[in-house]
Amino acid sequence: MRLILLGPPGAGKGTQAARLVEKHGIPQLSTGDMLRAAVKAGTPVGLQAKTVMEAGGLVSDEIVVGIISDRIREADARKGFILDGFPRTVAQAQALDVMLAAQDMTLDAIVELKVDENALLARIENRARETLAAGGTVRADDNPDAFKKRLDAYREQTAPVSGYYASRGVLKTVDGMAPIDAVTKALDVALAG
Ligand code: ADP
Repeated sequence: MRLILLGPPGAGKGTQAARLVEKHGIPQLSTGDMLRAAVKAGTPVGLQAKTVMEAGGLVSDEIVVGIISDRIREADARKGFILDGFPRTVAQAQALDVMLAAQDMTLDAIVELKVDENALLARIENRARETLAAGGTVRADDNPDAFKKRLDAYREQTAPVSGYYASRGVLKTVDGMAPIDAVTKALDVALAG
């Protein structure tokens, strides 16, 4: 199964993706995780991405398209994958179409987690608190200033991606405000139908 999870920052894509990984035995391809790993490792991509990520902006289409195009060619992605955080612009969605076609691959589902924007900042603050309490390191962009920029980037550049898929009639939506287990169930139903 090849699946895209769409939704604003804090919508719960990562949480649900982890459950889908277990259930379907396919990898979660999170551009955010891959970019954070590149920043940590100090690779050329990481050096380019660091400042823009910390400020809550979007990394260039060229960089993330390159990362995904390499990643979906790896052996573990052959059975399928869950894209989380990609595509984040219409240009990325178009590039994805081209790379999938080149490999004779099609998407099985595109699901958007719908959430009330007012709840998002509280979720991010909660995630930062829980991470600290667990002795972890809070993401550099999980603070109110960067989060506002991430929401702006979402509204301006990522929300149109839903329209891109909706206009083809392939977009499904799930209520991301429900409790975590209820969202998982709704996702299962959406993916089965
Ligand atoms: P979120 O919790 O906001 O969904 P992610 O972990 O998906 O965060 O991404 C964190 C940051 O990584 C983004 O704010 C952006 O700077 C960068 N990033 C991740 N995916 C992409 C992408 N597809 N295009 C551009 N930038 C991206």
